Amino acid sequence: MKDRSIWLENVVRETYPTLDKDINCDVLIIGGGITGLSCSYFLKNTHKNIVLVEGNRICTGTTAKSTGKLTYLQGDLIEKIKNIHDDEDTYIEYLNSQKEAICLAKKIIIENKIDCNLEPVNSFIFTNKSIKTNSIKTNYRLLKKHANVKLKNSLPIKIKCEKALEANDTFVFHPVKFVLGLAKIVQDKIAIYENTRVTGIDKENNYLIAHTKNGDIKAKKIVLACHYPFYIIPYLFPFKTTIEKSFLVASTVDKTKSFSAINIDKNVISLRYHKDKKNYMILATESGSLNKNIDNIKKRDAAIWRMRTLFSPDIEYAWSNHDIMTTDYLPLIGAVQENLYLATGYNTWGMTNGILAGKIISDLIKDNDSEYKDLFDPLRDEKNIPNVINYNLKNGYSFLDTKLDKKRNFYDKNVKIKKENGIYYGIYIDENKKEHKVLSQCPHMKCNLSFNYQTKTWDCPCHGSSFDIDGNIIYGPSKESIKIKK
Ligand SMILES: Cc1cc2nc3c(=O)[nH]c(=O)nc-3n(C[C@H](O)[C@H](O)[C@H](O)COP(=O)(O)OP(=O)(O)OC[C@H]3O[C@@H](n4cnc5c(N)ncnc54)[C@H](O)[C@@H]3O)c2cc1C
Repeated sequence: MKDRSIWLENVVRETYPTLDKDINCDVLIIGGGITGLSCSYFLKNTHKNIVLVEGNRICTGTTAKSTGKLTYLQGDLIEKIKNIHDDEDTYIEYLNSQKEAICLAKKIIIENKIDCNLEPVNSFIFTNKSIKTNSIKTNYRLLKKHANVKLKNSLPIKIKCEKALEANDTFVFHPVKFVLGLAKIVQDKIAIYENTRVTGIDKENNYLIAHTKNGDIKAKKIVLACHYPFYIIPYLFPFKTTIEKSFLVASTVDKTKSFSAINIDKNVISLRYHKDKKNYMILATESGSLNKNIDNIKKRDAAIWRMRTLFSPDIEYAWSNHDIMTTDYLPLIGAVQENLYLATGYNTWGMTNGILAGKIISDLIKDNDSEYKDLFDPLRDEKNIPNVINYNLKNGYSFLDTKLDKKRNFYDKNVKIKKENGIYYGIYIDENKKEHKVLSQCPHMKCNLSFNYQTKTWDCPCHGSSFDIDGNIIYGPSKESIKIKK
């Protein structure tokens, strides 16, 4: 079994250069996931000078670890949106936006012949608890006038189901092949730089200056398509968002079926099939808020156990992923300051919302307007004060927890937290008995790091940054590596 995402296997990638000098541009897009590349796609014919920078390789972040479903049946999100936003229109607008995003994805893939395993599937939300059947019926009532949905009593596979809702105009695809396909389409018109991490943004007259290790980028406009933004945006990050992490496994199966499903129960199970050289079932489960130190191996093994007992023993891949949740269940897409745009907070539905964000932000850049400008306005009024308080209490607790609990009980003889001269260090001892020692604190917000045995990385349990055993940054929001004790 490989501890990596199935989507990162056997993909053919172009290599893009690393920025090594100062440059100017009209629009700088920071982040090479589905959001950044969708934005590039919609801006490619504007005759503007556009640059995209990615701190790592293109599409190795959250997008590369998702389940790759394009659906508007997103658990019980529609019901949650309806309950928080009093006006009838909000959930309908959100639903329509997701349907539009699915149509956009299909159009882009077909028109540009992107080979990304796009497959029409029936998607389901379901419950295996009789107490939750009313919630499925509520979702049906909310959706039936606006979407092609049917109530069902079972799923196309043998798994306990009390009630389900089915939609048939939805898809699954290979998220990495899709994003790499977009990069190939835009690369003649847009300068793409890999391994180019932005470490800060300053304002200079009418320009924004993004700093990277080997050069500054002077831009008229900047799009933050970097998942969790790498700097604090007052009232938004980290105060109105939280992070949810889930564990995924892919197992070989005899046959695939044309459906995807997610339950609305406390123990989330999300399923889909994937046909490649072999047939796979992908299962995501063990979801939980990322505001506690997580024993990744325990959680991974629980996901493996679930796949084995419910479906198939032949696990080939296991990985984890996290996404940003918003307090009012709507994404944050739009301008956050003059000439600075943000797209994030997709509540685990970023395949549709990432593509949509590309469209919305490109419309805002081109015409200063978009149909969804108000719905997703990142600076909108807060609709869910109890949720904000709850999130902040949890985040505060999480921060304290990382501070107090310095010696994780799941560390073994290869991993140690050691205090020297009042400073805590994380030490990983490799197979050759070599010690790798780093400060055990994340440069982003000083949370104490937690060792992840699954990926052999030091991870921030509060905001999701990840570093290798020598402290080199793999994933933000931290914008720099952690210090290494010589
Ligand atoms: C378990 C799980 C399953 C999911 N499945 C689905 C699904 O089936 N369907 C669906 O719609 N959604 C799904 N999602 C949600 C979806 O994966 C995400 O919302 C989406 O991938 C986010 O895309 P992104 O482009 O914003 O972020 P990313 O893909 O993470 O891209 C951001 C990029 O920015 C780069 N970056 C960060 N900081 C900097 C910096 N300072 N300088 C330069 N580059 C930087 C990162 O390296 C990264 O490559 C799932 C989420 C989870 C957790």
